[in-house]
Amino acid sequence: MTERVFRFKGACNNYPWGRTGSESLASQLQRKNDRDFQLTEDAFYSELWFGDYPNFLARLLEAGELLKDVIGQNKEGMLGKTASEALDGNLPFLPKILSIAKALPLQFHPNKGLAAKLHEQDPGNFKDPNHKPEIAVALSRFEIFAGFKPLPEIEPLFRLPPLQQFGPSLADAAARSDKELREVVRSMLEADAKTIKSLITLLYTNFLILNPGEAIYMPADDIHAYLSGDIVEYMARSDNVLNLGFCTHAERYYLDVFTNALTFEAHSTNDVMLSSQKSEKSKSGRTVVFSRLFASSTLLKADLQAEESDKISASDGLGVFIITKGEGDLIADGKEFDLSKGSIFFVAQGIPVE
Ligand SMILES: [Zn+2]
Repeated sequence: MTERVFRFKGACNNYPWGRTGSESLASQLQRKNDRDFQLTEDAFYSELWFGDYPNFLARLLEAGELLKDVIGQNKEGMLGKTASEALDGNLPFLPKILSIAKALPLQFHPNKGLAAKLHEQDPGNFKDPNHKPEIAVALSRFEIFAGFKPLPEIEPLFRLPPLQQFGPSLADAAARSDKELREVVRSMLEADAKTIKSLITLLYTNFLILNPGEAIYMPADDIHAYLSGDIVEYMARSDNVLNLGFCTHAERYYLDVFTNALTFEAHSTNDVMLSSQKSEKSKSGRTVVFSRLFASSTLLKADLQAEESDKISASDGLGVFIITKGEGDLIADGKEFDLSKGSIFFVAQGIPVE
């Protein structure tokens, strides 16, 4: 019988927006966790994925066996009934660490209906039929553009001469329907780099700076660009993305799909920020839960000082833990494990942890 609580390791990727070498939190955590990891100082370490999504697969720390194979041997026992049935033994979420030096592409993620359609039409670019709402918790100062500002706040900008070139209807309030606004955004996205500079994002979207421990929630269909900082990112099990800016024109595929999906739903920065509450599962109250839920899974954050502890009661689904700072012990399933920065654990359904 396979162990139901075990340590495992994720995999780093090397996108050029990532921090380099040992500056990257992703590489720091990976190096601490995995003795075999070879760090190259001039390489980019953008993300550390620690899930079972096919691009960057997690493995057991010692045996090297794939996490998905270990789960596959005992799907219901590991994941619980709901999760094992919903995605045929796959993890229902995809956890990552991001260490960002410069802007990621301005992007949005298709909702479930659109993702299913795109996956069927173009499985090369859209590898799964799932939506991808995401939560990001800052681990350092974190900068982001997120969601369109409410229309009344953008309105004065429509009168600025540099913007008039993108649509004759801008100055005419009566003509500013979603249809017209889509055309304006489309012509901006099609404009050459010289014309555009960073005009669109600077003028239209909210700019936020998060401090460590603060979080944002990005639903599917919402425009965003992460700019700099270290974060834990937690999303539905999907890798579907449409890139629109801060990238080459060649990478901006499906401009029509994007502009047609735009809703210009009003957002204030408060709509984007995600609050946390004490988790009902936490005995000491030192573990908080981020309130937005999707796919019936959730994100917990425990802050423990020296000599402090917490017990988290059993859940009917699985858990994945990552230690981002410090060291300590984990007691679960009758065993005690050493924890240090970078440690990643799988805890099967029905097991409380201390
Ligand atoms: Zn995203």
